[in-house]
Amino acid sequence: MIRGARDRSVLLLRMIATTDPFLIDDIQREMDIVALSITQAAQQISQRVTDQDHQAWLKQLFRITTQNRDNQSHVYNLMTQENADNARQFLVDVTLPVQEQALEILTLFQEELNTKANLAEQKMHGYLSSNKVLWISLSLVFGISLLIISLFTLKRLRQLGQAQTLFQQTLETQVKKRTLELHLDSSVLHNIHEAVAVASCTGDMVKTNQKFNQLLSSANLTCDNLWQVIQTLLPALSIESIKKSLGEYGYTRHECELVIDTRACHYFIDIYCVNDEQLDQRYISLLLTDVSELKTTQQHLEHLANFDPVTQLPNRHYFQTYLSRALSNEKIEQFSLFYIDLDNFKWINDTLGHGSGDQFLLQIATQLANTFETNRQVLVCRLGGDEFAVLVENCDDNCHVMMADQILNCCAQVNQINQYSKSIGCSIGVASYPKDGTTQAALMRHADFAMYKAKEQGKNQYCFFSEAMNERIHYLYDMEHNLQTALTNHELNIHFQPQYNLQNGQLTGAEALVRWQHLGKAVSPAEFIPLAEKFGLIHAIGEFVMRTSIQQLAHWQQQGLLLPKMAINVSSAQISLHSFVADVEHALKNSDIHAHQIDLEITETVLMENLKQHKTALEVLQNQGIEISIDDFGTGYSSLAYIKHLSVDRIKIDRSFINDLGQNEESDSIVSAIITMGHSLGLKVLAEGIETAQQLTLLRKMGCDEGQGYYLGYPTTPKEFSFIPLSIQQLADRVTLQ
Ligand code: C2E
Ligand code: CA
Ligand code: CA
Repeated sequence: MIRGARDRSVLLLRMIATTDPFLIDDIQREMDIVALSITQAAQQISQRVTDQDHQAWLKQLFRITTQNRDNQSHVYNLMTQENADNARQFLVDVTLPVQEQALEILTLFQEELNTKANLAEQKMHGYLSSNKVLWISLSLVFGISLLIISLFTLKRLRQLGQAQTLFQQTLETQVKKRTLELHLDSSVLHNIHEAVAVASCTGDMVKTNQKFNQLLSSANLTCDNLWQVIQTLLPALSIESIKKSLGEYGYTRHECELVIDTRACHYFIDIYCVNDEQLDQRYISLLLTDVSELKTTQQHLEHLANFDPVTQLPNRHYFQTYLSRALSNEKIEQFSLFYIDLDNFKWINDTLGHGSGDQFLLQIATQLANTFETNRQVLVCRLGGDEFAVLVENCDDNCHVMMADQILNCCAQVNQINQYSKSIGCSIGVASYPKDGTTQAALMRHADFAMYKAKEQGKNQYCFFSEAMNERIHYLYDMEHNLQTALTNHELNIHFQPQYNLQNGQLTGAEALVRWQHLGKAVSPAEFIPLAEKFGLIHAIGEFVMRTSIQQLAHWQQQGLLLPKMAINVSSAQISLHSFVADVEHALKNSDIHAHQIDLEITETVLMENLKQHKTALEVLQNQGIEISIDDFGTGYSSLAYIKHLSVDRIKIDRSFINDLGQNEESDSIVSAIITMGHSLGLKVLAEGIETAQQLTLLRKMGCDEGQGYYLGYPTTPKEFSFIPLSIQQLADRVTLQ
């Protein structure tokens, strides 16, 4: 609009400056066009302007514009009337000031609009600023979030990276390890002692180790197919049966012998079925283990287990196995067992030493083996110690006698070779299957029993098992059972027999003698004591006697009967026990009885059995004050020389010598000699079995110290014993009175 107004002013000036009427018209048209555009613009503005101030200005502008256009028309008219001076004058005086006015209003309006525009701009600016903060905040939040997300993502990425590295490392380690394992497997396979081959099920070789190849080439075997190899190694077995075992158990073991460099070697053949899901098919593996050394050791051990090292004869173990096989073999209808025990063999060991003993056993074994080696149906064994056994099939009575004589002859021949001062015999017991027993235990027991009978009958002879012996065996069985219950059933008690000093006549002690009352009948200790020893029951019985005797002694002591000494019999099995000394000490402990009141009676034979051990035990007891007496003196070794080495206190002359006193001079002189020699060794001498006054008188004369016997007093119950005469004088007085 402003430009239009200015253009019109310029056009007016140009109009009044021109003289060309055509140009004036052109300017007039131009001015009309500008006036039209001004009017249009003003109308457009007025449509958009809502402000009342602006509308007032616009009205003023319209008015001026209209006036201007009128002025312009007047100027034009003047020009067209060629009144240029008036036109110029009118232009200067009226048109231009109006024109200026319009410009002024327009400029003001423009300023006003500019101000508003600035305000709007400032407002917009402010608005934009506040939005910027929001945007910045949002951007910050967004940025931080982005940063966090980025950091997190970065961390995750880093972790993923690390995990991946770790995974790679693990994988690498595993691969390395697996490679090493495979290498190791292969190395082990090639270096092991066993020969190994792996093949497909059809037998095509897949893998073999060096040992396998070497072994097969040394044994001159081809190794194209595994089944062929197996068949060659195990010709007695069919491949089908091996495959069947593999199918059932997955494994089968066999043994074979291979000749390698002319040497027979033993191998274990282990065949396995290799069934693994990870494998493409099933495989068969073969493992050959050299067990030659093991086999040799095993044979050696078997020999040791079955043969006696001294005689090289089969031993007891072999004999028992053989016997049980013979018993279960239905083809063997009859066989006989000769149980042999050497007589007096102990003498060789004791006097000539164990070397000579072994030599003698070897000679006997050789004689027996040579005598019977031609007979395939005979087995000769050494059962242990000086016991041998000969087993023979299908032997009748004549055969028995012949065989027994041959065995005795073997022994005689060995005696002849050695020429010892004492000849060694052999006692033989014979038991036959099935007549004398159908079990191993029965046959052994019966042959043993018959052998003991042969010994009883005088040694160096044979004895056949009989029905009568069977009865004896049954009796012994019963006795064993009855003796076992005797103690618990309180069937045992003790009787006491007085002992007197033969010089001053005073009661010196009593011998404790055990009694067994079984089913109303008295069983003699001479009968049951050896059986108790045999059955291993003597320890319990011995303990009972020791305890009860000491209690009885203590009881009498309390009642005023001062018995100086209690003699207690000790059997061989008792004294051999390692606990013997402790057992005696235990019995004395907690009692009022002193050790010196106890006298232990031991037979010579028992003492000599194990002189060293017994001597030590007895010395321990003697040091505590206990006395030791040699019982039944004269029936065993009867050697005072031996007794000299033992620090015993007393010898008890066996009653068989006393029995003959006064009957023949020989007995008198023997008893007298024993007493004298005993005294010379510082021992007390007691005579047992004094039955008559004459015997008593003789013994007193001979200087015998002590005595016991029916004449002086029978063994009695404890109650009866309390009334026993305290001296021989008292006893004589009683007899006289009666
Ligand atoms: P022993 O030790 O020689 O005991 C003496 C045996 O002779 C006793 O026989 C006794 O009764 C008997 N006797 C005593 N005086 C005379 C006599 O004047 N004439 C005759 N003919 N005999 C007489 P008993 O009681 O039958 O004892 C036999 C054997 O039994 C004892 O012989 C002894 O060896 C053993 N014995 C007895 N009691 C025990 C014991 O408690 N323990 C052990 N281990 N053995 C015992
Ligand atoms: Ca005795
Ligand atoms: Ca005796």
